[in-house]
Amino acid sequence: MASTDAMSEPMSDADSDPRRRIPRTDALLADPRFAAALPALGRPVVKAAIAAAQDRARAGALPPERVAEAALAALPGSAARLSEVVNASGVIVHTNLGRAALSEAARTALLTAAGSTDVEFDLATGARARRGRGALAALAERVPEAGGVHVVNNNAAALLLCALVLAPGREIVISRGELVEIGDGFRIPELLAATGARLREVGTTNRTHLDDYRAALGPDTGFILKVHPSNFEVTGFTSGVGTAELATLGPPVVHDVGSGLLRPHPLLPGEPDAATALREGAALVTASGDKLLGGPQAGLLLGEAELVERLRRHPVARALRVDKLTLAALEATVRGPVPPVVAALERGEAELVERARALAAGLAADGIPAEAVPSRAVVGGGGAPGVELPSAAVALPERFAAALRTGRPPVVGRIEAGRCLLDLRTVEAAQDARLAAAVRAAAAGAPAEGDAPCT
Ligand SMILES: *Cc1c(COP(=O)(O)O)cnc(C)c1O
Repeated sequence: MASTDAMSEPMSDADSDPRRRIPRTDALLADPRFAAALPALGRPVVKAAIAAAQDRARAGALPPERVAEAALAALPGSAARLSEVVNASGVIVHTNLGRAALSEAARTALLTAAGSTDVEFDLATGARARRGRGALAALAERVPEAGGVHVVNNNAAALLLCALVLAPGREIVISRGELVEIGDGFRIPELLAATGARLREVGTTNRTHLDDYRAALGPDTGFILKVHPSNFEVTGFTSGVGTAELATLGPPVVHDVGSGLLRPHPLLPGEPDAATALREGAALVTASGDKLLGGPQAGLLLGEAELVERLRRHPVARALRVDKLTLAALEATVRGPVPPVVAALERGEAELVERARALAAGLAADGIPAEAVPSRAVVGGGGAPGVELPSAAVALPERFAAALRTGRPPVVGRIEAGRCLLDLRTVEAAQDARLAAAVRAAAAGAPAEGDAPCT
């Protein structure tokens, strides 16, 4: 019976108590949609999702007709929703886990902006205002070296806009050592060529000199592009040309710093940053918002005011425009306390060792073969290739990996030398109890949490 009918029609006692309409567990388990999930997730996980939805219906928080739908949506890996995952991989910026986890400040800002918001409106005057001016101002304050700031959908979009504005039908001069594939088959040179600009490759894979660039310059030069090789390292007999030298050649230099560091970070001395690149003479810097900056997916464009204005005014800029949610999360990230990515980077090794020991001891006391071991964490595809961060992990037998991954909450560890490592550098200390519960549940073959947290 539809709930609207229930309001208007006379009914028996049985019908008037909506709790009686809550579907039974055995009936739901027989439903083909749940039956299909059983082989991959196991009975305990599916039953827990059903029980949680039934509980909500009993409490009046969910119409009985929607119990099946809510339970399906809560299944890990359900197409209906993304699962919250505990990243215990030791990879700080894990692309497959959504890159940067947002700070509490950014999450709150997202929720606030989800309603009607003054993203493009001046409340004081009632007039239209510059879209996302809060985020733009926050970036400008952190990088006063930039005369102008613009934000687009991601770093790839930022590069696209640079090519469209600075090199239509012209040449982009780039070192052969910086022809980067970002991941999943996407290559920066192909992206740039798709705009109709021509790539003028100079130097070799391992060595490029200032004279190589100089020899390639001419009336067709649109700009010189410097790309940070953020996901690989070339070592040995190598040399490249820095932004400061390139800036002496004349044409504008666009520096793709990749990781989104706005200023230098002492733990990552080899990682380029926007402020330094601009001081060295880059006309424009492009970067991602969801790597080391620790914010939402976004492409940052910082540089000469007149150039940034031309980028902003290009017709394609509208197609690369960011959502109000992105702007809200970005501003909160830039203004707010240290985001999780930076916290993970800066966590002290001693603290990690202590946490790993405490966790392993607690688990071992319950008969789970857990051991605290030293580990090496990495920044990830987001930057700092070759940099290893000393860390500590809880080591478990390898079979735990799958059970943890399909548990609730899903925990993603790292398999190394036949063991499943839970690296604590990428886990906040406040999550340790939850992590321990997940391991105990994996050992017992049951989900740790009955329902996915909704907030
Ligand atoms: C990650 C990266 C990109 C692509 O950035 P998106 O924000 O994913 O589009 C481009 N250039 C460099 C150097 C990168 O590291």
